[in-house]
Amino acid sequence: MDNCIFCKISQKEIPSHTVYEDDVVYAFLDISQVTPGHTLVIPKKHVMDIFDFDDALAADVFARIPKIAQAIEDAFPAIEGLNIVNNNKALAYQSVFHSHIHLIPRYSKEDDFSMHFGDHTADYTTEKLADIADKIRKQVR
Ligand code: AMP
Ligand code: ZN
Repeated sequence: MDNCIFCKISQKEIPSHTVYEDDVVYAFLDISQVTPGHTLVIPKKHVMDIFDFDDALAADVFARIPKIAQAIEDAFPAIEGLNIVNNNKALAYQSVFHSHIHLIPRYSKEDDFSMHFGDHTADYTTEKLADIADKIRKQVR
């Protein structure tokens, strides 16, 4: 797609540090390494976000994630964990609108990555949870 920085990166029109590449995905270092080894995996096909994937593309792209994660783990023996993050739309912190999956190695609690899940267990009755699940289940295509 014209004017998409990640399309340009995967087509080598803009330089990047390649981690892995095949016919389906391109994986490269995030220019801002939240932690060393922070990698972005993108489909070569331009899709904006998770809502834009079909089953076949999702199967192809997500099948590549474990082997890239395993390569990162093998490259950095000090790794203690890995967060896989995929931001979708601006409200959810997406800033580049070509879908990408962040692989963020974790080395210690003091590294520069954090995530906060508020605990709302007490706010939801079984009925409320059943209602939410039902709403979603009815929409699965
Ligand atoms: P997000 O905020 O989830 O959309 O993530 C976009 C990511 O792309 C950010 O972490 C940026 O640091 C990264 N990024 C932006 N431009 C480049 C670039 N030219 N090369 C590598 N990473 C980039
Ligand atoms: Zn693109």
